[in-house]
Amino acid sequence: MSSQTTTDRDRSSEEPILSIQDLRTVFYTDKEVIRAVDGISFDIHPGETVGIVGESGSGKSVTARSIMGLVDSPGRIENGRIEFRGENLVGKSQKQWRKIRGNGIAMVFQDPLTSLNPVYTVGNQIKEALRLHQGLSGQAATEEAISLLEAVGIPDAGRRVREYPHQFSGGMRQRAVIAMALACDPELLICDEPTTALDVTIQAQILELLNELQEERDLAIMFITHDMGVIAEIADRVNVMYAGEIIETASAVDLFGTPKHPYTQGLLRSIPGSHEQGERLWTIEGDVPTPNEEPTYCRFAPRCPKAFDECERVHPVSVPVEDGAQDHTTACLLYPEDRSETEAVALHESRSTTGGDTE
Ligand code: ADP
Ligand code: MG
Repeated sequence: MSSQTTTDRDRSSEEPILSIQDLRTVFYTDKEVIRAVDGISFDIHPGETVGIVGESGSGKSVTARSIMGLVDSPGRIENGRIEFRGENLVGKSQKQWRKIRGNGIAMVFQDPLTSLNPVYTVGNQIKEALRLHQGLSGQAATEEAISLLEAVGIPDAGRRVREYPHQFSGGMRQRAVIAMALACDPELLICDEPTTALDVTIQAQILELLNELQEERDLAIMFITHDMGVIAEIADRVNVMYAGEIIETASAVDLFGTPKHPYTQGLLRSIPGSHEQGERLWTIEGDVPTPNEEPTYCRFAPRCPKAFDECERVHPVSVPVEDGAQDHTTACLLYPEDRSETEAVALHESRSTTGGDTE
Protein backbone atom coordinates (compact mmCIF):
# COMPACT_ATOMS: atom_id res chain seq x y z
CA MET A 1 0.00 0.00 0.00
CA SER A 2 1.31 3.44 -0.70
CA SER A 3 2.27 5.68 2.14
CA GLN A 4 -0.26 7.33 4.38
CA THR A 5 -0.33 10.56 2.37
CA THR A 6 -1.44 8.77 -0.79
CA THR A 7 -4.02 6.58 0.91
CA ASP A 8 -5.44 9.55 2.79
CA ARG A 9 -5.92 11.60 -0.33
CA ASP A 10 -9.40 11.08 -1.70
CA ARG A 11 -8.81 9.85 -5.23
CA SER A 12 -12.42 9.05 -5.98
CA SER A 13 -13.31 12.70 -6.59
CA GLU A 14 -10.72 13.00 -9.39
CA GLU A 15 -11.43 11.86 -12.94
CA PRO A 16 -10.17 8.30 -13.40
CA ILE A 17 -7.16 7.94 -15.67
CA LEU A 18 -8.47 4.53 -16.76
CA SER A 19 -12.10 3.52 -16.81
CA ILE A 20 -13.12 0.03 -17.88
CA GLN A 21 -16.80 -0.52 -18.55
CA ASP A 22 -18.40 -3.90 -19.16
CA LEU A 23 -15.33 -5.21 -20.98
CA ARG A 24 -15.62 -8.61 -22.64
CA THR A 25 -12.68 -10.28 -24.38
CA VAL A 26 -13.38 -13.60 -26.06
CA PHE A 27 -11.19 -16.31 -27.65
CA TYR A 28 -12.74 -18.25 -30.52
CA THR A 29 -10.94 -21.59 -30.50
CA ASP A 30 -11.85 -24.65 -32.60
CA LYS A 31 -13.18 -26.36 -29.54
CA GLU A 32 -14.98 -23.62 -27.66
CA VAL A 33 -15.61 -19.94 -27.15
CA ILE A 34 -13.69 -18.75 -24.08
CA ARG A 35 -15.07 -15.65 -22.38
CA ALA A 36 -11.72 -14.93 -20.72
CA VAL A 37 -12.85 -11.49 -19.57
CA ASP A 38 -16.60 -11.46 -19.17
CA GLY A 39 -18.12 -8.08 -18.45
CA ILE A 40 -15.76 -6.40 -16.00
CA SER A 41 -15.84 -2.75 -14.90
CA PHE A 42 -13.41 -0.78 -12.74
CA ASP A 43 -11.60 2.57 -12.55
CA ILE A 44 -8.04 3.62 -11.76
CA HIS A 45 -7.36 7.16 -10.53
CA PRO A 46 -4.09 9.08 -10.93
CA GLY A 47 -1.50 8.04 -8.35
CA GLU A 48 -3.53 5.05 -7.21
CA THR A 49 -2.52 1.38 -7.09
CA VAL A 50 -5.32 -0.95 -8.08
CA GLY A 51 -4.72 -4.65 -7.52
CA ILE A 52 -6.22 -7.42 -9.64
CA VAL A 53 -6.03 -10.70 -7.79
CA GLY A 54 -7.23 -14.23 -8.55
CA GLU A 55 -5.97 -17.74 -9.18
CA SER A 56 -4.30 -18.74 -12.41
CA GLY A 57 -6.75 -18.75 -15.33
CA SER A 58 -9.10 -16.14 -13.89
CA GLY A 59 -8.52 -13.62 -16.73
CA LYS A 60 -6.01 -11.22 -15.19
CA SER A 61 -3.47 -11.24 -18.03
CA VAL A 62 -6.16 -11.04 -20.69
CA THR A 63 -7.48 -7.93 -18.89
CA ALA A 64 -4.00 -6.37 -19.04
CA ARG A 65 -3.48 -7.32 -22.68
CA SER A 66 -6.91 -5.94 -23.59
CA ILE A 67 -5.94 -2.55 -22.12
CA MET A 68 -2.62 -2.64 -24.00
CA GLY A 69 -4.24 -3.58 -27.33
CA LEU A 70 -2.24 -6.83 -27.29
CA VAL A 71 -4.96 -9.50 -27.38
CA ASP A 72 -3.64 -12.42 -29.43
CA SER A 73 -5.61 -14.06 -32.20
CA PRO A 74 -8.05 -15.92 -31.94
CA GLY A 75 -9.12 -13.42 -29.31
CA ARG A 76 -10.91 -10.12 -29.61
CA ILE A 77 -12.57 -7.47 -27.53
CA GLU A 78 -16.22 -8.08 -28.09
CA ASN A 79 -17.90 -5.55 -25.88
CA GLY A 80 -17.32 -2.62 -23.58
CA ARG A 81 -15.18 0.46 -23.27
CA ILE A 82 -11.59 1.08 -22.17
CA GLU A 83 -11.29 4.81 -21.55
CA PHE A 84 -7.80 6.19 -21.05
CA ARG A 85 -7.78 9.88 -20.11
CA GLY A 86 -11.43 9.93 -21.24
CA GLU A 87 -10.79 8.47 -24.70
CA ASN A 88 -12.21 5.06 -25.66
CA LEU A 89 -9.45 2.72 -26.91
CA VAL A 90 -11.76 -0.08 -28.07
CA GLY A 91 -11.88 -0.06 -31.86
CA LYS A 92 -8.57 1.81 -32.33
CA SER A 93 -6.23 0.64 -35.08
CA GLN A 94 -2.97 -1.14 -34.19
CA LYS A 95 -1.10 2.01 -35.16
CA GLN A 96 -3.11 4.22 -32.83
CA TRP A 97 -2.77 1.68 -30.04
CA ARG A 98 1.02 1.59 -30.47
CA LYS A 99 1.10 5.31 -29.90
CA ILE A 100 -0.80 4.98 -26.64
CA ARG A 101 1.48 2.17 -25.47
CA GLY A 102 4.47 4.39 -26.02
CA ASN A 103 2.89 7.44 -24.56
CA GLY A 104 0.83 7.00 -21.48
CA ILE A 105 0.56 3.30 -20.64
CA ALA A 106 3.54 0.97 -20.09
CA MET A 107 3.62 -2.65 -19.01
CA VAL A 108 5.97 -4.83 -16.98
CA PHE A 109 5.64 -8.60 -17.46
CA GLN A 110 6.40 -11.49 -15.12
CA ASP A 111 9.53 -12.59 -16.94
CA PRO A 112 11.94 -9.70 -17.54
CA LEU A 113 13.56 -11.67 -20.36
CA THR A 114 10.41 -11.31 -22.48
CA SER A 115 11.05 -7.55 -22.50
CA LEU A 116 14.86 -7.57 -22.82
CA ASN A 117 16.76 -8.50 -25.95
CA PRO A 118 19.85 -10.60 -25.06
CA VAL A 119 22.00 -9.21 -27.88
CA TYR A 120 21.82 -5.52 -26.92
CA THR A 121 23.18 -3.82 -23.83
CA VAL A 122 20.64 -2.77 -21.23
CA GLY A 123 21.61 0.84 -21.88
CA ASN A 124 20.98 0.60 -25.61
CA GLN A 125 17.53 -0.85 -24.99
CA ILE A 126 16.59 1.97 -22.64
CA LYS A 127 18.02 4.48 -25.11
CA GLU A 128 15.94 3.00 -27.90
CA ALA A 129 12.83 3.48 -25.75
CA LEU A 130 13.92 7.08 -25.03
CA ARG A 131 14.47 7.74 -28.73
CA LEU A 132 11.06 6.36 -29.70
CA HIS A 133 9.06 7.92 -26.92
CA GLN A 134 10.89 11.10 -25.95
CA GLY A 135 12.95 11.83 -29.05
CA LEU A 136 16.23 11.71 -27.12
CA SER A 137 19.50 10.54 -28.70
CA GLY A 138 23.27 10.62 -28.23
CA GLN A 139 24.74 11.85 -24.98
CA ALA A 140 21.40 13.14 -23.70
CA ALA A 141 19.88 9.66 -24.09
CA THR A 142 22.87 8.00 -22.38
CA GLU A 143 22.61 10.38 -19.45
CA GLU A 144 18.87 9.82 -19.15
CA ALA A 145 19.35 6.02 -19.35
CA ILE A 146 21.84 6.21 -16.49
CA SER A 147 19.54 8.37 -14.43
CA LEU A 148 16.64 5.96 -15.02
CA LEU A 149 18.81 3.04 -13.90
CA GLU A 150 19.66 5.06 -10.79
CA ALA A 151 15.98 5.84 -10.27
CA VAL A 152 15.20 2.11 -10.17
CA GLY A 153 17.99 1.47 -7.67
CA ILE A 154 20.69 -0.08 -9.84
CA PRO A 155 24.05 0.60 -8.22
CA ASP A 156 26.98 1.78 -10.33
CA ALA A 157 24.57 2.69 -13.14
CA GLY A 158 27.27 4.39 -15.25
CA ARG A 159 29.01 1.03 -15.67
CA ARG A 160 25.95 -1.23 -15.74
CA VAL A 161 24.40 0.76 -18.59
CA ARG A 162 26.99 -0.88 -20.86
CA GLU A 163 26.28 -4.45 -19.70
CA TYR A 164 24.08 -7.12 -21.26
CA PRO A 165 20.93 -8.60 -19.68
CA HIS A 166 22.72 -11.88 -18.83
CA GLN A 167 25.14 -9.92 -16.64
CA PHE A 168 22.22 -8.79 -14.46
CA SER A 169 20.61 -10.87 -11.67
CA GLY A 170 16.86 -11.60 -11.91
CA GLY A 171 15.94 -8.74 -9.58
CA MET A 172 18.25 -6.30 -11.40
CA ARG A 173 16.75 -7.34 -14.74
CA GLN A 174 13.26 -6.59 -13.49
CA ARG A 175 14.52 -3.19 -12.29
CA ALA A 176 15.96 -2.59 -15.78
CA VAL A 177 12.59 -3.48 -17.35
CA ILE A 178 10.89 -0.99 -15.02
CA ALA A 179 13.46 1.62 -16.14
CA MET A 180 12.53 0.84 -19.77
CA ALA A 181 8.85 1.25 -18.95
CA LEU A 182 9.60 4.62 -17.31
CA ALA A 183 11.44 5.72 -20.45
CA CYS A 184 8.07 6.38 -22.07
CA ASP A 185 7.08 8.57 -19.12
CA PRO A 186 3.83 6.65 -18.48
CA GLU A 187 0.92 7.85 -16.39
CA LEU A 188 -0.28 4.27 -15.98
CA LEU A 189 2.01 1.32 -15.33
CA ILE A 190 0.50 -2.15 -15.70
CA CYS A 191 2.45 -4.81 -13.81
CA ASP A 192 1.53 -8.44 -14.57
CA GLU A 193 2.97 -10.61 -11.78
CA PRO A 194 6.28 -8.67 -11.91
CA THR A 195 7.65 -10.30 -8.77
CA THR A 196 6.33 -13.85 -9.13
CA ALA A 197 9.62 -15.21 -10.49
CA LEU A 198 11.70 -13.52 -7.78
CA ASP A 199 12.59 -14.67 -4.29
CA VAL A 200 10.76 -12.99 -1.41
CA THR A 201 13.54 -10.57 -0.40
CA ILE A 202 13.96 -9.27 -3.94
CA GLN A 203 10.18 -9.22 -4.35
CA ALA A 204 9.87 -6.93 -1.32
CA GLN A 205 12.52 -4.61 -2.77
CA ILE A 206 10.71 -4.33 -6.11
CA LEU A 207 7.40 -3.57 -4.37
CA GLU A 208 9.16 -0.89 -2.34
CA LEU A 209 10.64 0.53 -5.55
CA LEU A 210 7.20 0.68 -7.20
CA ASN A 211 5.81 2.50 -4.16
CA GLU A 212 8.64 5.05 -4.34
CA LEU A 213 8.28 5.61 -8.08
CA GLN A 214 4.57 6.10 -7.61
CA GLU A 215 5.14 8.78 -4.97
CA GLU A 216 7.70 10.59 -7.09
CA ARG A 217 5.85 10.45 -10.39
CA ASP A 218 2.19 10.28 -9.34
CA LEU A 219 1.99 7.05 -11.36
CA ALA A 220 -1.20 5.07 -11.47
CA ILE A 221 -0.39 1.37 -11.12
CA MET A 222 -2.50 -1.64 -12.06
CA PHE A 223 -0.89 -4.53 -10.23
CA ILE A 224 -1.78 -8.12 -11.15
CA THR A 225 -0.94 -11.02 -8.88
CA HIS A 226 -2.29 -14.35 -7.60
CA ASP A 227 -0.74 -13.55 -4.20
CA MET A 228 -2.92 -11.86 -1.57
CA GLY A 229 0.19 -11.15 0.50
CA VAL A 230 1.59 -9.00 -2.32
CA ILE A 231 -1.76 -7.22 -2.72
CA ALA A 232 -1.63 -6.34 0.98
CA GLU A 233 1.78 -4.73 0.43
CA ILE A 234 0.92 -2.62 -2.56
CA ALA A 235 -2.75 -2.02 -3.38
CA ASP A 236 -5.02 0.90 -2.43
CA ARG A 237 -8.05 -0.77 -4.03
CA VAL A 238 -8.53 -4.40 -4.99
CA ASN A 239 -10.56 -6.21 -7.65
CA VAL A 240 -10.89 -9.95 -7.09
CA MET A 241 -11.31 -11.88 -10.35
CA TYR A 242 -12.80 -15.32 -10.83
CA ALA A 243 -13.45 -17.04 -14.19
CA GLY A 244 -13.49 -13.79 -16.16
CA GLU A 245 -15.57 -11.76 -13.72
CA ILE A 246 -14.81 -9.33 -10.91
CA ILE A 247 -16.50 -10.90 -7.90
CA GLU A 248 -15.49 -8.37 -5.24
CA THR A 249 -14.19 -4.77 -5.23
CA ALA A 250 -13.16 -2.78 -2.17
CA SER A 251 -10.42 -0.64 -0.69
CA ALA A 252 -7.56 -2.82 0.52
CA VAL A 253 -8.47 -1.96 4.12
CA ASP A 254 -12.07 -3.16 3.67
CA LEU A 255 -11.13 -6.18 1.58
CA PHE A 256 -8.71 -7.49 4.18
CA GLY A 257 -10.78 -6.31 7.15
CA THR A 258 -14.21 -7.51 6.02
CA PRO A 259 -13.95 -9.75 2.95
CA LYS A 260 -17.47 -10.63 1.80
CA HIS A 261 -17.41 -13.04 -1.14
CA PRO A 262 -16.82 -16.66 -0.06
CA TYR A 263 -14.03 -16.84 -2.68
CA THR A 264 -12.22 -13.81 -1.27
CA GLN A 265 -12.61 -15.23 2.22
CA GLY A 266 -11.03 -18.47 0.97
CA LEU A 267 -8.15 -16.65 -0.73
CA LEU A 268 -7.40 -14.72 2.45
CA ARG A 269 -7.44 -17.85 4.57
CA SER A 270 -4.81 -19.37 2.29
CA ILE A 271 -2.20 -16.63 2.89
CA PRO A 272 0.75 -18.22 4.70
CA GLY A 273 1.21 -16.61 8.10
CA SER A 274 -2.44 -15.63 8.50
CA HIS A 275 -3.04 -18.62 10.75
CA GLU A 276 -3.07 -19.61 14.35
CA GLN A 277 -0.38 -22.09 15.22
CA GLY A 278 -1.48 -25.55 14.16
CA GLU A 279 -4.38 -24.36 12.03
CA ARG A 280 -4.43 -26.01 8.64
CA LEU A 281 -3.71 -23.82 5.63
CA TRP A 282 -7.12 -23.54 3.97
CA THR A 283 -7.00 -23.93 0.25
CA ILE A 284 -10.00 -23.91 -2.03
CA GLU A 285 -10.59 -27.34 -3.53
CA GLY A 286 -10.73 -27.58 -7.33
CA ASP A 287 -9.75 -25.23 -10.16
CA VAL A 288 -11.07 -22.12 -11.85
CA PRO A 289 -13.50 -23.32 -14.57
CA THR A 290 -12.94 -22.19 -18.16
CA PRO A 291 -15.65 -19.59 -18.79
CA ASN A 292 -16.88 -21.17 -22.02
CA GLU A 293 -20.55 -20.23 -21.87
CA GLU A 294 -22.69 -17.31 -20.88
CA PRO A 295 -23.18 -17.55 -17.13
CA THR A 296 -26.76 -18.17 -16.08
CA TYR A 297 -25.48 -19.30 -12.66
CA CYS A 298 -22.59 -18.53 -10.30
CA ARG A 299 -19.28 -19.78 -11.70
CA PHE A 300 -17.90 -20.24 -8.18
CA ALA A 301 -20.86 -22.27 -6.88
CA PRO A 302 -19.29 -25.72 -7.45
CA ARG A 303 -16.43 -24.79 -5.06
CA CYS A 304 -18.37 -22.56 -2.70
CA PRO A 305 -18.86 -23.62 0.92
CA LYS A 306 -21.92 -21.35 1.16
CA ALA A 307 -23.68 -22.29 -2.12
CA PHE A 308 -27.43 -22.85 -2.06
CA ASP A 309 -29.90 -23.98 -4.75
CA GLU A 310 -30.39 -20.56 -6.36
CA CYS A 311 -26.64 -20.27 -7.09
CA GLU A 312 -27.13 -22.84 -9.88
CA ARG A 313 -29.94 -20.83 -11.42
CA VAL A 314 -29.20 -17.11 -11.03
CA HIS A 315 -26.15 -15.22 -12.23
CA PRO A 316 -24.91 -12.89 -9.47
CA VAL A 317 -24.19 -9.31 -10.55
CA SER A 318 -22.08 -6.74 -8.68
CA VAL A 319 -24.12 -5.23 -5.85
CA PRO A 320 -23.21 -3.18 -2.76
CA VAL A 321 -22.32 -5.50 0.14
CA GLU A 322 -25.01 -3.67 2.09
CA ASP A 323 -27.44 -1.04 0.92
CA GLY A 324 -25.59 2.23 0.37
CA ALA A 325 -22.05 0.76 0.47
CA GLN A 326 -20.93 2.07 -2.94
CA ASP A 327 -17.20 1.45 -2.44
CA HIS A 328 -17.51 -2.21 -1.54
CA THR A 329 -19.33 -4.42 -4.02
CA THR A 330 -19.58 -8.13 -4.59
CA ALA A 331 -21.19 -10.51 -7.08
CA CYS A 332 -22.76 -13.06 -4.75
CA LEU A 333 -26.41 -13.92 -4.09
CA LEU A 334 -25.86 -13.53 -0.33
CA TYR A 335 -25.62 -9.74 -0.79
CA PRO A 336 -26.68 -7.00 -0.08
CA GLU A 337 -26.42 -8.57 3.34
CA ASP A 338 -29.12 -6.40 4.91
CA ARG A 339 -31.75 -7.89 2.60
CA SER A 340 -33.41 -11.26 3.06
CA GLU A 341 -32.09 -14.08 0.90
CA THR A 342 -35.24 -14.00 -1.24
CA GLU A 343 -35.01 -10.24 -1.77
CA ALA A 344 -31.30 -10.40 -2.58
CA VAL A 345 -31.79 -13.22 -5.11
CA ALA A 346 -34.65 -11.28 -6.72
CA LEU A 347 -32.39 -8.23 -7.08
CA HIS A 348 -29.65 -10.24 -8.84
CA GLU A 349 -32.20 -11.97 -11.03
CA SER A 350 -33.82 -8.71 -12.15
CA ARG A 351 -30.46 -7.14 -12.98
CA SER A 352 -28.94 -10.08 -14.81
CA THR A 353 -31.95 -10.91 -16.97
CA THR A 354 -32.17 -7.33 -18.24
CA GLY A 355 -28.44 -7.48 -18.86
CA GLY A 356 -28.18 -4.11 -17.15
CA ASP A 357 -25.93 -3.24 -14.25
CA THR A 358 -27.34 0.15 -13.49
CA GLU A 359 -29.12 1.43 -10.45
P1 ADP B 1 -4.55 -15.38 -15.57
O1 ADP B 1 -3.63 -14.32 -16.06
O2 ADP B 1 -5.55 -14.89 -14.57
O3 ADP B 1 -3.84 -16.59 -15.06
P2 ADP B 1 -5.38 -15.47 -18.33
O4 ADP B 1 -5.88 -14.08 -18.46
O5 ADP B 1 -4.03 -15.75 -18.88
O6 ADP B 1 -5.44 -15.90 -16.80
O7 ADP B 1 -6.38 -16.48 -19.02
C1 ADP B 1 -7.80 -16.43 -18.85
C2 ADP B 1 -8.47 -17.47 -19.73
O8 ADP B 1 -8.26 -17.14 -21.09
C3 ADP B 1 -7.96 -18.87 -19.54
O9 ADP B 1 -9.05 -19.76 -19.55
C4 ADP B 1 -7.07 -19.08 -20.74
O10 ADP B 1 -7.05 -20.43 -21.10
C5 ADP B 1 -7.74 -18.24 -21.80
N1 ADP B 1 -6.77 -17.75 -22.81
C6 ADP B 1 -5.78 -16.85 -22.60
N2 ADP B 1 -5.06 -16.62 -23.73
C7 ADP B 1 -5.63 -17.43 -24.68
C8 ADP B 1 -5.36 -17.67 -26.07
N3 ADP B 1 -4.35 -17.06 -26.71
N4 ADP B 1 -6.15 -18.57 -26.72
C9 ADP B 1 -7.17 -19.18 -26.08
N5 ADP B 1 -7.47 -19.01 -24.78
C10 ADP B 1 -6.72 -18.15 -24.08
MG1 MG C 1 -1.53 -14.26 -16.03
